[in-house]
Amino acid sequence: MCKKITIDDCVAFHGHVCGGIALGYVLAQYAMEKLGACREDALCARVECSSCPVDAVQCVTGCTAGKRTLEVADAGRTALTLVRKETGRGIRAEIAVSVPAGLSKAETLGYILSLDPAAVCRWEPAALEVPLGR
Ligand SMILES: [Zn+2]
Repeated sequence: MCKKITIDDCVAFHGHVCGGIALGYVLAQYAMEKLGACREDALCARVECSSCPVDAVQCVTGCTAGKRTLEVADAGRTALTLVRKETGRGIRAEIAVSVPAGLSKAETLGYILSLDPAAVCRWEPAALEVPLGR
């Protein structure tokens, strides 16, 4: 049975409410579902941004910098490559959302969570060289 991570878990881990944590949460949940993975599985991840969404990725996937299962390769995209550690094979997922102007941080979070992940995320097969580089 997979441990269920909620947006509240991610916000608690991250330390504040923001749109970025919601983007990372939706992206990471989407990637986990497409990979058919549980947080308890041996996974490795590469994120392509270096801000708020990274914390949601760590919370949802269980891949962390401290375990050397997370690589932050900032390319300015809210994208995540998530693979199984034994094979290095998995998927790359990316999220793109246009948030209406004028929303508060809490409203932005709510707006992002209200969207259909299948409409704002896309994915493709991908691989990473594991163990991840230092
Ligand atoms: Zn944030």
